[in-house]
Amino acid sequence: MKRKPETLCVQAGYEPKKGEPRVVPIYQSTTFKYETSEQMADLFDLKAEGYFYTRLQNPTNDVVAKKIAELEGGVAAMLTSSGQAASFYSIFNICEAGDHFVSSSTIYGGTFNLFAVTMKKLGIECTFVDPDASEEEIQKAFRSNTKALFGETIANPVLNVLDIEKFARIAHKNGVPLIIDNTFATPINCRPFEFGADIVIHSTTKYMDGHATSVGGCIVDSGNFDWEKHHDKFKGLTEPDESYHGLAYSSAFGKGAYITKATAQLMRDLGSIPSPHNAFLLNIGLETLHLRVPRHCENAQKVAEYLEKNEKVAWVNYSGLPSNKYYELAQKQFTNGQSCGVVTFGLKGGRDVATRFMDNLKLCCIATHVADARTCVLHPASHTHRQLSDEQLIAAGVKPDLIRFSVGIENAEDIIADIEQALNA
Ligand SMILES: *Cc1c(COP(=O)(O)O)cnc(C)c1O
Repeated sequence: MKRKPETLCVQAGYEPKKGEPRVVPIYQSTTFKYETSEQMADLFDLKAEGYFYTRLQNPTNDVVAKKIAELEGGVAAMLTSSGQAASFYSIFNICEAGDHFVSSSTIYGGTFNLFAVTMKKLGIECTFVDPDASEEEIQKAFRSNTKALFGETIANPVLNVLDIEKFARIAHKNGVPLIIDNTFATPINCRPFEFGADIVIHSTTKYMDGHATSVGGCIVDSGNFDWEKHHDKFKGLTEPDESYHGLAYSSAFGKGAYITKATAQLMRDLGSIPSPHNAFLLNIGLETLHLRVPRHCENAQKVAEYLEKNEKVAWVNYSGLPSNKYYELAQKQFTNGQSCGVVTFGLKGGRDVATRFMDNLKLCCIATHVADARTCVLHPASHTHRQLSDEQLIAAGVKPDLIRFSVGIENAEDIIADIEQALNA
């Protein structure tokens, strides 16, 4: 019988044998010992499996990657030192100078900058599309050198819900994989592979760690995309890699090709690995993901309902509200219709009222973070997006009065009481 997500959160990835530690040990070692020179040579040729240097693989990191792969229903995964590294590698693993990819325009600000500015400097171009546009409209962004389509299940901070099936249809019609950033939904609420996504990435910094202790990321491959069928587009995967003695990833590793290349080539050369200690902390977070995520959502639902009824509130955006534009899609795509713990809203009176409200909060703290156990709040126009004018903010889908409220797992009544006193102050 296939194990359920709750069991996977607690136990997947690690099965100790007789006399071994019950808890995943922290292999805080850069190197691993061998007995003959040939044993080591086979590892470098990818002929044998084994650990030799932590930049390439580490037992603690691998256990945690395996757990996330199982939670997403994928075949393989790789941890990275941050969500940013995961986003970059997920694209750079299949795109090089001269290539192009398409992305939803409503994505995390850091990812937007990576795609629009930094990747462009590497000769990789990105076209942004409105995720709610029709398939015909989105199709217009594709070119002969397009190699991927990218989107976020629930966008940070705009909170639009992506129609993953629609995006998968468009990607596959064009012979390219769909890459989904599933950070906000987590595999507890959504498993994008079940809706046709090919690759999933995470900023594990958020709900997966859940306690705001470690920055990290992860890339998971479904194993479903047929690289060889589209071999003219993905030569990096299907043709011999000179830097690995002429090995071709797709023929040598089959469904493991994409993650093997990301590890053996990108991680080898660029090196954004998490420390084994951070992977250990992430694993402890994952053990309670299935308990925390529903509680975040339950609390967020109560906060959203409270805000919607309050006359000082101009608007509320949360896909759990039946009045929300994405309510039906959220019901279809998310487990129990739960989306995430983040709610956005605006107050009557705009920007100034928003900052005064935030300054008056006592329990909920101002922090550049989302999705951890403690309720926190941010005003993108004054903080993460402060370099933008009101016009630019609106173009980025971030209203100048938008308050991003990340609901924690405290008692919902206490959170609402804090909001109420700050609104009345
Ligand atoms: C935070 C975040 C990222 C970036 O992750 P880091 O771990 O901060 O590098 C990417 N995508 C989403 C949706 C995020 O919220």
